[in-house]
Amino acid sequence: MNKFIFVSGGVCSSLGKGVAASSLGALLEGRGLNVRMVKCDPYINVDAGTMSPYQHGEVYVTDDGTETDLDLGNYARFTSGPLSRANSITTGQVYESVIRKEREGGYLGRCVQVIPHITDEIKSRIQAVAKEDSETDVVIVEIGGTVGDIESIPFLEAARQIIHESGKTNALSVHLTLIPEVAGGELKTKPTQHSVKAMQELGIQPDILICRAPVKLDEGTRRKIALFTNMETDAVFTSYDIDTTIYEIPLIFFDQKLDQVVLKKMGVECRHSDLKPWYAMMDKFRSQQGKVRIGIVGKYMDLHDAYKSVYEALFHAGIEDGVKVELVKIDSARLEETDTADGILGPRAADGGVDGILVPGGFGQRGINGMVRAAAWARNNKIPYFGICLGMQVMVIDWGRNVLGWDDADSTEFDRGTGHPVISLLEDQMDIKDYGATMRLGKSETVAESGTHIMEAYKERNIWERHRHRYEFANIFRKDMIESGLRLTAFTPDGGLVECVEWPDHPWGLGVQFHPEFKSKPTAASPLFRDFIAAVRDRKQAQR
Ligand code: GLN
Repeated sequence: MNKFIFVSGGVCSSLGKGVAASSLGALLEGRGLNVRMVKCDPYINVDAGTMSPYQHGEVYVTDDGTETDLDLGNYARFTSGPLSRANSITTGQVYESVIRKEREGGYLGRCVQVIPHITDEIKSRIQAVAKEDSETDVVIVEIGGTVGDIESIPFLEAARQIIHESGKTNALSVHLTLIPEVAGGELKTKPTQHSVKAMQELGIQPDILICRAPVKLDEGTRRKIALFTNMETDAVFTSYDIDTTIYEIPLIFFDQKLDQVVLKKMGVECRHSDLKPWYAMMDKFRSQQGKVRIGIVGKYMDLHDAYKSVYEALFHAGIEDGVKVELVKIDSARLEETDTADGILGPRAADGGVDGILVPGGFGQRGINGMVRAAAWARNNKIPYFGICLGMQVMVIDWGRNVLGWDDADSTEFDRGTGHPVISLLEDQMDIKDYGATMRLGKSETVAESGTHIMEAYKERNIWERHRHRYEFANIFRKDMIESGLRLTAFTPDGGLVECVEWPDHPWGLGVQFHPEFKSKPTAASPLFRDFIAAVRDRKQAQR
């Protein structure tokens, strides 16, 4: 069985299309189906690797090292199917391959056009995901943008053709819209009617409507929407505002029987639903006690999406550890202006300070010295610290400068001429000038030493996590670092690269060169995030 579900959106952007698509995926997995998720991005960038986190949010990295849109992160948190290059389709990729084929004479002299050539390329990429694994039951395709956008038209046309060719039960259209509330508390359905009309003009009659609304729509409103959009009342669902967490949305849709209606429309026999992990997660969420304040010291602090997976992983850890995690976003540049980190981070700070520090990944010089200050402060005050990628490199720079006394200790990313390049490019990368593909990207193996915090977290020596970085712990300084007490606790299998450092005589100070945030789920928190938050919680409780 190969079925397709196309998820589109209308009225306005940021309605939570990704979360809606993922939640539907979670429900279908709960019914025992094998689900694959695909994102179609109408932008012309070939991938998200070159996009600024300030504008576009984080770059999500898959096992195979593809740098994708952060929507794939949503899929990974809600569903369990594999994600790779094939699951992210951008206009840039589509045009790139059509143009390459044209240059190679692949179109035999014909005129190459948006329809059929671009749309055929989109279709074949979507169908390739369905064919990748013979076990795949359903492919959920999220179409980025809003109906009416010029850029989304080829993707919607490809969806229309697949729906037309597959037949009614084999391909569905799910459309997400907004029901705004106007003064006086009245809910307005008109934008939704227009949005569905825009879909119909493109030849797609939505089968399922999911309406974002402040409250659950009543029967009368749903009937009215159904009448004006050519749909059945029981195919109109509400994604209403909640004050818990987005991870409750699969259960909210389940209560409205979204999966049952979808399965019925696809002619799939309704199997028993198992959503135990989701209910158990919500029970833990509801019984959280107390809170910890985590200072995230980074450079892209204004846009929440820039560290999306890190924030989500902290949230998952809080669920697992039974404590609420408050995010305290600190622009590291602020720590550069003052020589007392204590005034910003410590108990005397205006907001009461933080209970733990996390320095996430990042690129470029700005704010680095502030991060080094945050690390030194956490080390000296025995505050739990978690460094991810750049955050680990910062630990090593701090150790070089403040423990070994090398004032010029630095990464060659920030100071090429330093006498103590404690973080540097791999020797064999030294001459590479083209920044295109020189990064260590994607899944690789790390081996942990026993008797370490990293081993305690994963409970096994062989760890598989994803990387996205160019610079490495410089091996020429290993001896000095170890002799002065820094613990090097995990390595690549050949021992050649340092993957984890830990502070001695410290409750929990650990940095990893990889990105554990990408594999964290609400129903299965990343082990390192879980232990970091547990250390913060325990230290706070002990202080009382
Ligand atoms: N800029 C650093 C490097 O390239 C760290 C990258 C990261 O934190 N993702 O090695």
